[in-house]
Amino acid sequence: MKGDRDRKRHRRCVVLILDGLGDQPIPALGQQTPLEAARTPRLDRLASAGRCGLVDPIARGVVPNTHTGVGILFGLRPRQRKLLKRGPVEAAGAGLNLEPGDVAFRANLATLERAGDGFRVRDRRAGRVIGDAPEFAKAIEEVALGNGVTARFRTTDQHRGALVFSGPGLGAALSDTDPGDGSMPTALKPCEPLHPGSAATAELVNQYVQEAHEILARHPLNSKREADGKLPVTGVITRGAGAWFDLDSVLDERQIPAALVVGCNTVAGLGRVFGLHIVRQPGFTADASTALKGKLKAARDTLADFPLVYVHIKATDLFSHDFQPEGKRDFIERLDRALVVLEDSGAAIALASDHTTDSNTGAHTSDPVPVLLCAPDTFDARDGGDPPNFGETACRSGSLGRLDGHGFLLEILRYLDS
Ligand SMILES: [Zn+2]
Repeated sequence: MKGDRDRKRHRRCVVLILDGLGDQPIPALGQQTPLEAARTPRLDRLASAGRCGLVDPIARGVVPNTHTGVGILFGLRPRQRKLLKRGPVEAAGAGLNLEPGDVAFRANLATLERAGDGFRVRDRRAGRVIGDAPEFAKAIEEVALGNGVTARFRTTDQHRGALVFSGPGLGAALSDTDPGDGSMPTALKPCEPLHPGSAATAELVNQYVQEAHEILARHPLNSKREADGKLPVTGVITRGAGAWFDLDSVLDERQIPAALVVGCNTVAGLGRVFGLHIVRQPGFTADASTALKGKLKAARDTLADFPLVYVHIKATDLFSHDFQPEGKRDFIERLDRALVVLEDSGAAIALASDHTTDSNTGAHTSDPVPVLLCAPDTFDARDGGDPPNFGETACRSGSLGRLDGHGFLLEILRYLDS
């Protein structure tokens, strides 16, 4: 019995999350998906020796966004999924910790101009700012809004950042002030409450937009920027408002220490929200230039301390958004070659995704994603029951069947625990 317990305690799993892996048949690929068209001998072997299936990341018919699709794999319970907003995720990525009652937003440094009582957005990204962003951020690091409410701002990369309101009586049911991509200049949208309980907070957001503009517009760096032909940084625009909530994560409940190897800031922030140990190294990026073997090697090293190690890989999704199915196929082949790093690691390998991204349209869809789970003691099996060519079509007849993302995580935890 004791030997059995020790063996269980030493079970390990690496969960590869290929962002936007699922796809649709592509005419240029002979009506195969990029995953089906890719030569993937290692994934095929894992699928054949292990179990595969199709996963609806959230639920059938729901089109997931990345933070919810990945959040479910990190242990978010389906009943809490609507509480997980992008603002608090960005705040965690920017190193701003949320307390109960706080409200967080994604925020851009932008170029705003006064227009009547309001503002016009000349550029949503202030020309992507580049380099100067931390200096401007310092000027609005903390702004007092009265009645005990303060606003903290931090940059993440380029023009991007996070904004956190702290104080009494705040509500998070708020519209975006960010007008979104479209023709510029355009009017800045005043913040509106989406629920009467957030009316006072909407007013505070509008007050903040005014105050941040006044501080930034007189920042000495702007005259230098304009002399250099760059856009001035004169405001902050917000979106994705969300409140702190009492996260009830499956991994916390099971007391499973987990780590995340990652290059993407948003997913790193998400990992922090879920209490994952974050592993980042130079060369781990959120695009196709990422060090695939380096990430897998870091995952392998991290298994010594964590039974569950996630590896997030973003590029698959970007190729689909850019209508590049061949690039996606080739990148999947690169990943397959890199998997040699995990051979003989002694860990199970799971492959999952947060959503399907259709390379024909560049959009996320509600289609299920192909997944696999292969335990190390079955790596060498040659006659596993599951289909040998890992892909969307073959996974339809996989022995995991069709399940949701939460159910797939439970399968992984069952392996670790059984
Ligand atoms: Zn995604």
